[in-house]
Amino acid sequence: MKKLDPAIEPGATIGILGAGQLGRMLALAGARLGLKSHIYAPDAGEPAFDVAVRSTVAAYEDEAALARFAENVDVITYEFENIPAATAAFLAQRCPVHPAPLALEKTQDRLIEKRFLNELGVATAGFAPIDSAEAIGPALTSFSGSGILKTRRFGYDGKGQAMIRDTAAGTEAFASFGEVPAIIEAVVPFAREISAIGARGPDGSFRAYDICENSHANHILSRTEAPARIKASTAERAAEIAKRIADALDYVGVIAVEMFVVDGAKGEELIVNEIAPRVHNSGHWTIDGAATSQFEQHVRAISGWPLGSTARRGRIVMDNLIGDEVCRWREILQEEGACLHLYGKSELRDGRKMGHVTRVYADGTIYADGTN
Ligand code: AMP
Repeated sequence: MKKLDPAIEPGATIGILGAGQLGRMLALAGARLGLKSHIYAPDAGEPAFDVAVRSTVAAYEDEAALARFAENVDVITYEFENIPAATAAFLAQRCPVHPAPLALEKTQDRLIEKRFLNELGVATAGFAPIDSAEAIGPALTSFSGSGILKTRRFGYDGKGQAMIRDTAAGTEAFASFGEVPAIIEAVVPFAREISAIGARGPDGSFRAYDICENSHANHILSRTEAPARIKASTAERAAEIAKRIADALDYVGVIAVEMFVVDGAKGEELIVNEIAPRVHNSGHWTIDGAATSQFEQHVRAISGWPLGSTARRGRIVMDNLIGDEVCRWREILQEEGACLHLYGKSELRDGRKMGHVTRVYADGTIYADGTN
């Protein structure tokens, strides 16, 4: 191990695995605090490379490149959870990796993740492992005839996911996923979707942001609003769940926990959908809407620096700019107080996250639709 003391100084270099917009915003936040970034990712031309001091374009299995990378950086983090476990383990022998590889192990596979949550006493949707087409019928029966088939690994933005209402549709979806290991989840009749985002430092300190509320379009996050329209006691429980998960993983960095809020017989119930062991799209509002952004907070945590205030600056609405929505950039720039973020992606594709815009309103603002 290169360093025993987790604290690093300004001027040090953060190694970031992955070169998408999350890596880009991490590198920008690090730069503000006098830190350099070295991005490691398999494909050139991705957005984070434009803002990094150093870059390595190499496969996650390339041990010679990984060893050189670990030698050149002071701490390593990642912007997405599908880093191969062997890569994280290889790097962790050479340099501090935060969050530690245990967080990847528990969150890369939906079955392992749900069992981990249940062992912590955290509620999830009912689920059943699906290793063969024969398992689909009995699982559907146990969930009153319908469910959501999800691949255990590599799913995102609704990919590797299908709503199924009978065994034939389930068998077809399972085949279309290549019969890879999957689960079926009971359909949760949720009233809202929320995220609890917090950060844990190496000393166990924990700071949560106000709970935010998410809306999706075509399985992709389209809007996040903060605060979520939930009871204060529900928000407290949501933050406590995020802390419980972070403590159990001895986690260092920002963690996001996506949850469903169900209006149950006993009031608002929380059901965890999934854990993101990283900064998260539903936390982008913190750049303009909180005292410390989730990106800066992550950088502080992995550097062993004090965590910053998570105080919210007002009522926040963050809209993703997906596909050609980004073409409105000029109009958004003309709007008083709209905070535009463009990810510098060279190619515009349908469904691709190209940027986001955050609007911060004074608390108590009445929105155009009459709500406040
Ligand atoms: P995921 O990829 O697991 O984050 O799921 C993407 C979206 O699908 C979620 O944000 C929900 O809107 C919906 N979804 C996923 N799982 C369930 C479930 N068990 N019940 C109801 N809706 C779900």
